[in-house]
Amino acid sequence: MKVKKVEAIPVNYPEPNDFNALRHLCLVRITTDDGVVGWGESVTMWPESNLATKAVIEGMAELVIGQDPVNTDAIHRSLKDRAWWYGYAGGIASFAIAAIDIALWDLKGKVLDRSVLELLGGAVHERLPAVASSHAHYESIPEMADEALEWLSTGLQGMKVGFGKRGDARLGFEHDRDVAYVGAMREAIGPDKSLMIDLGWAIKWDVPTAVKRTQAFDEFDIMWIEEPLGAWDPEGYATLRSKTRTAMAYGEKEWTVEGFERVLATGTVDVVGCDPGRAEGITGFKRVADRVEQYGRQANAHSWSSAIVGAASLAVSFSSPACKLFELKPLDNPMQHELVTTPAGHLDGWVYPPTGPGLGIEVLEEVVERYRSES
Ligand SMILES: [Mg+2]
Repeated sequence: MKVKKVEAIPVNYPEPNDFNALRHLCLVRITTDDGVVGWGESVTMWPESNLATKAVIEGMAELVIGQDPVNTDAIHRSLKDRAWWYGYAGGIASFAIAAIDIALWDLKGKVLDRSVLELLGGAVHERLPAVASSHAHYESIPEMADEALEWLSTGLQGMKVGFGKRGDARLGFEHDRDVAYVGAMREAIGPDKSLMIDLGWAIKWDVPTAVKRTQAFDEFDIMWIEEPLGAWDPEGYATLRSKTRTAMAYGEKEWTVEGFERVLATGTVDVVGCDPGRAEGITGFKRVADRVEQYGRQANAHSWSSAIVGAASLAVSFSSPACKLFELKPLDNPMQHELVTTPAGHLDGWVYPPTGPGLGIEVLEEVVERYRSES
C-alpha cells in the first residue's frame, strides 16, 4: 500500500469558546492507492500562517507520495530533512510536518487495523481526569463563577481559565480584581476541583508582578499557573519558582524536541504543554512526552483545536505516564462536534483510552467542505 495523494485543506470557523473569533486550521487528507484516508491537522490560527502551511505541505507532498504510510518515523525524518533551511528550529515547517504526521498515524492504524494508542505501545492509564479549558466571559465575577459551575456540573474535575482574552472579563491586568476572581472561583467550585490559570498573549507581567500575583494565588491552591512569564524567561521563572508554591507550566510555544529539551533543561518548568498540531505531530509529541517523563515532570496536551488534534492528543496522553489529565473545551464547537460522527467527551469527569482503527474518528467530508477557506 502506497500514499497516492496529499491534500492540504485550509478551514476556518467561529470558535464559541473564544467569543466566536474566527480560527484558522490547516487539515490534511492523505489517501492511499487503495482508497484508505487518513486525517491530520495543524493549528495555524491565522490566515497567513494557514496559507504558508498549505504551501509547505504541498511542497513536502512529493516526499510522502509513493511511500508506505506505516513508515511514519522514516517519513518524519525525510520531512525534517526537507525543512533544513526554512524549518531548522521549527515554525511553519513544524505545522506542516505535524499535519502530515498525524494523518500518517491515522492511516497506519487503519491499514494495520489498530488504534494509534496501540501503535504507540498501549495505554498506561485506565482513565484520566477531564477538566474544562476555556476563557472567562463576563465582567461580573459572580457571573463568571456561575458559568464555571455550569461547566463543572457535567462532572468535569476542574477548570483552566485563560486570562487576557477577548470579552469583558478583564483578567490578568489588575492585582485586586485577579485575586478577587481566583478567590471567588475557589469558593464557588470548592476545594476538590482543580483550578489552573493560563496567561494569554495580551498579559505582559514582569517578574515582580508575576511574583506578587502568584503569591496571592498560592493561598487558593492553584494546580498550576501557565506562562506567567511567557514562553521563555528561565531566569525569571527561576526567581518566580523560588518565591511561590504554585506549579509552573510552559512550553506550548515550542516546536521541536530540541526546543522542549531546552525548556526542560532550565529546571524551571513543572508542567510542559505540547500541541501535536504544532510540535511535529504524534511522532513529535510522543518524543517530547518521553523526555518530560525522563525529567520527572508533567506533560500536558495543548488540545484546543479540532477533533483530529483532540484524538491525536488523547492517544499520546494515554501512552505516557507523564500526562496526568486531559483538557476539554466546555462549549460545543464546529470543529469538534460537527466535524466527526462521534465527538469526544467525558464520562462523569473521566476520559478513557481511545479505540481505533487509527485515530478512531470518522471525519465528515461535507463538514470539511462547509468550513473550507481559500487561505
Ligand atoms: Mg496555554
